Amino acid sequence: MAGRPRVGVLALQGDVREHAALLAQLGADVQLVRRPDELTGVDGLVIPGGESSVIDKLSRTFGMQEPIRHAISHGLPVLGTCAGLILLADAVLDSIEGQETFGGLDVVVRRNAFGRQVESFETELHVPAFGPPSVSATFIRGPVVETVGADATALAALPDGRVVAVEQGNLLGLSFHPEITGETRFHERFLRRVEARVQRQ
Ligand code: GLN
Repeated sequence: MAGRPRVGVLALQGDVREHAALLAQLGADVQLVRRPDELTGVDGLVIPGGESSVIDKLSRTFGMQEPIRHAISHGLPVLGTCAGLILLADAVLDSIEGQETFGGLDVVVRRNAFGRQVESFETELHVPAFGPPSVSATFIRGPVVETVGADATALAALPDGRVVAVEQGNLLGLSFHPEITGETRFHERFLRRVEARVQRQ
């Protein structure tokens, strides 16, 4: 491959550093993205976990909502974890008033779906697309995917059937945080899309 793929991490709020470190470890050239001009020239974007309503608000304040929507609709590979998944969803349940998303994933997600008792937990997830070993998934006030629309595909579900990982074209959304457990396969899957896009251009 010629050169390192240029990958942005949306750095308005959330666990930006963990994603940046993992992407760098996997060979990406990482660009923190806060302004529209920083989005120009990246070949993929990670939307981190954090607080989706805050990231939404800041993205509008910084004039990032439209550029990100435009990039998504033009096929930019995007990986969203937790709040990032919420921001990629076309519809959100239990959002705060006025909360918006970038959209692109044909799914309905529910914020804070695990309630107060089990706000955070770790579990082993079988991801058929990866095969063994299973994924150690950390959930931190995470969303679940309540409806997977016709254009999206479920990648992983909890034993009770609730969907926690989805993809659609170049978009990948996860309810949990692979970046904090050393799980690299989702980021690698995303980077392969980034590399494919670079090669096509
Ligand atoms: N509860 C957060 C939200 O609604 C998501 C939590 C996370 O990203 N770890 O945005």
